[in-house]
Amino acid sequence: MEEKQERRRRIVLIPAPAQGHISPMMQLARALHLKGFSITVAQTKFNYLKPSKDLADFQFITIPESLPASDLKDLGPVWFLIKLNKECEVSFKKCLGQFLAQQQEEIACVIYDEFMYFAEAAAKEFNLPKIIFSTENATAFACRYAMCKLYAKDGLAPLKEGCGREEELVPELHPLRYKDLPTSAFAPVEASVEVFKSSCDIGTASSMIINTVSCLEISSLDWLQQELKIPIYPIGPLHMMASAPPTSLIEEDESCIDWLNKQKPSSVIYISLGSFTLMETKEVLEMASGLVSSNQHFLWVIRPGSILGSEFSNEELFSKMEISDRGYIVKWAPQKQVLAHSAVGAFWSHCGWNSTLESMGEGVPMICRPFTTDQKVNARYVECVWRVGVQVEGELKKGVVERAAKRLMVDEEGEEMKMRALSLKEKLKCSVLPEGSSHDSLDDLIKTL
Ligand code: UDP
Repeated sequence: MEEKQERRRRIVLIPAPAQGHISPMMQLARALHLKGFSITVAQTKFNYLKPSKDLADFQFITIPESLPASDLKDLGPVWFLIKLNKECEVSFKKCLGQFLAQQQEEIACVIYDEFMYFAEAAAKEFNLPKIIFSTENATAFACRYAMCKLYAKDGLAPLKEGCGREEELVPELHPLRYKDLPTSAFAPVEASVEVFKSSCDIGTASSMIINTVSCLEISSLDWLQQELKIPIYPIGPLHMMASAPPTSLIEEDESCIDWLNKQKPSSVIYISLGSFTLMETKEVLEMASGLVSSNQHFLWVIRPGSILGSEFSNEELFSKMEISDRGYIVKWAPQKQVLAHSAVGAFWSHCGWNSTLESMGEGVPMICRPFTTDQKVNARYVECVWRVGVQVEGELKKGVVERAAKRLMVDEEGEEMKMRALSLKEKLKCSVLPEGSSHDSLDDLIKTL
């Protein structure tokens, strides 16, 4: 990772404004910086990523826009992305032009998050090489691509409410069912498809980087390569490739590590549903009583504002949950440190792609409870392809929670999943070492720049 180039060249990165997108983009930035490139991060006010001591190596520029600051929360992710891309189309061209006029270094390329697709036209205008970065996996990208085609053919009829085809397998996307497709919980399918059409249109991009490992999804990578006809570089898990600068948007509560230190090896279920998943109050209460009756210990991340329909404050709600000394609740955890802790035996997750990679990178089996978009794809793969977890489907009731916890923590099948997870961990570790697939893929990409 340390070899330096003779003449410095600069890469401009455009991350999407969400925790699960910013972190892998900054990890990629660090990996490229270690290879000798200068880094500029172009962002809107919605990213919150402020230049700091830890990010001192990177330059930040602001893409001007005049959207209300509340839009990110008020519109939901899908409508927000549509609006943000429209808003930045012209302003980014201007901003990039001004930036280039002041630049001493040559620009090697512009790398943009697939959902920041406004960047393609601007980079094209200035004749800069463009690379798409998918922070989700190849299978999720393939699904979005296939959804656009299915939508053009029959309006995604099998997804229409009441048509009863949700359990059917999607042709070409085995083992995914229609209900596993990455539709959004925040917007109608038409709006999601509008975003996908733009994000899957590679335009004049010369290649694509995906935060994944070829051994995890070789057939989806091959499929994509054939469809898109540009080089695809599986470079991941990025969090294992470069020690990334801290990019957490919420303060981490380290006290949970002290609590974990007092627990027995592999005895704790870590529960976290990522940075924007929401739960109903009644689900939270069912989950708490299911966990208590499973007799397992658990560390639970409950973000402020993540519980819907609650007449109680979080503190009042926690007192109703009667979790006794078996459970510990924090608002935000140092997740990678938690997953690496020997006391953690399983991860109850919404299956965001970063969380899934972080869990597999530590050999921790998963209880999957996806909520929206690619999380459903990831959960299906965790259960049916990598076989390192189980998915909890349907209504979240106490008994269902208790059974899932016991399957992972007590039953023999849990032990088998753990063994498979540990073997996957070794494969992922090898992939980022010299001669490993992701390590070599990064080198191949750099040769083209
Ligand atoms: N995360 C964390 N502390 C928490 C919960 C999550 O640091 O208490 C981090 C986690 O390590 C991951 C990111 O937040 O890197 C969540 O990304 P993911 O893709 O899993 O889900 P999203 O938030 O995008 O739904």
